[in-house]
Parts: sequence; C-alpha cells; structure tokens
Amino acid sequence: MAAFLKQKGDMYRWVDFTWNPVQGKCQHDCAYCYIKRIAQRFRGDDDFGAPHLFDTPLNIRQNGAGKTVFVCSSCDLFASNIPESWIAWVIRQANKYPENTWLWNTKNPQRAVNLPRFDSRFPDYPKNSILCATIETNCWFDCMGKAPHPDQRFKGLEEWEGRKMVTIEPIMKFAISPFVERLHWIRPEQVNLGANSGNVELPEPSREDIEKLVYKLSRFTKVHLKKNLRRILPEHDLYSEGA
Ligand code: SF4
Repeated sequence: MAAFLKQKGDMYRWVDFTWNPVQGKCQHDCAYCYIKRIAQRFRGDDDFGAPHLFDTPLNIRQNGAGKTVFVCSSCDLFASNIPESWIAWVIRQANKYPENTWLWNTKNPQRAVNLPRFDSRFPDYPKNSILCATIETNCWFDCMGKAPHPDQRFKGLEEWEGRKMVTIEPIMKFAISPFVERLHWIRPEQVNLGANSGNVELPEPSREDIEKLVYKLSRFTKVHLKKNLRRILPEHDLYSEGA
C-alpha cells in the first residue's frame, strides 16, 4: 500500500506530505542516491526490485486537505521505464483532490511534458501542479548515472507552461554564467539548493562559488537553502527563512 505520509525528512521542508504510489529501484541509478543508501543499510544491498505500482486509491483525509504533496519522493515517476498507464493512474488520483498542490519532482521533465495529454483518455495534471526538475549542475559527471543530461532537463522545464521549480541538489561544480542564464530563461518560481549528504565523494563547488550563485539567483527567483548545505556554506541570511 502506498502510504500518504506527513513529510518528516529534510528533502523539502515546505512540503506537507509525501505519497509514493510507485516504488522500486530507480532507473536513473545516481551514484549518490539516498534511497539506495537506505536500502543498503537495511537490506544489505541496494536492489529492491523492479518498480511497481501500488494502486490502492488515494484517500486524503481532513488533515491533508489543501496541503502540498510530493509525489514519488523515492523513485522517479517519469523515468522512461515507468509505464504510461501507471503515470496516468497516479495523475487521475491526484485529480481527485484539486485543492491540494501537487509537486512532480523528476530528472526527466521532458517525459512529464510530453505525455499524451491531448489524448482525451489521458488525464491532464491537477490545476495546482508544480513541475520541479532536479538539476545538480549544468555540467556532466559520471556519478549522475543514467539520468538525462542537464541540457535535456532544462529543455523539459522550458516546455512546461505551468508553475516550475528547480532543485540543485546535491550541488556539484558548475559553470556559473551559462548555469544562471539557463535558470533565468526558465524563470522558476523557486530554486532549492542542497548538498551531498551521503558518503560518495562528489565534485563539489567552493563556498565562494555557491555564494555567487545564490546572489545571482536571488535577483530573479526565490532561493531556499537546505540545512545540509551548511557543511559547505555555513552562514547565510537565507537559512533563517526555514528552508
Ligand atoms: S533520480 Fe533520485 S531516486 Fe532516482 S536514482 Fe537518482 S537520486 Fe535515486
């Protein structure tokens, strides 16, 4: 059964609930994946099976009404190996609660925007939807596994006409000018920044580079700094905003 749970972790503090109707090994296979890490710790290996759909109808009780729900926080709903029929089922369930805000977080936003939504048999997203792409950097590093290249993720967000966000986590070395330009072009309503919290070594930017990035982003969008970023950027006024 896919639990509808109060959000407790540090992923997004502004999210109220998580709902994970699709679970299993995520095809993107990022080296730093925290889900793989949890599986390794509790099961002794990180292979927790092919993705599967828990198709118990969603039932949001009173305390969840009107709240923000992060869909599929432990697997990418829009990974290319997730059947379209599953995605349609998940979107239909979300549509039962149009007053909630639905956060669709993915590393494959191109698929999220190119679903056959103009086919009347396929549901459109609920009106209060936010498409959020995780884009750790505008460069490519092998630790990003089989996830789409950051260029493709930018393109997907560019095509989305509704509310959009970007999550830069775990932040990795970037080329600041083209990164900021691309983000500016997309105009996300919010950019979330976080750092690697696992034990895989990643190519991290310096404190100075992150400070510059935060400054430039703050000029055109809301910036949330996650607590795990303090390891690289210990002090910043934006931490006081509870991100
Ligand atoms: S996209 Fe997310 S869930 Fe999938 S492997 Fe990467 S970190 Fe893990």
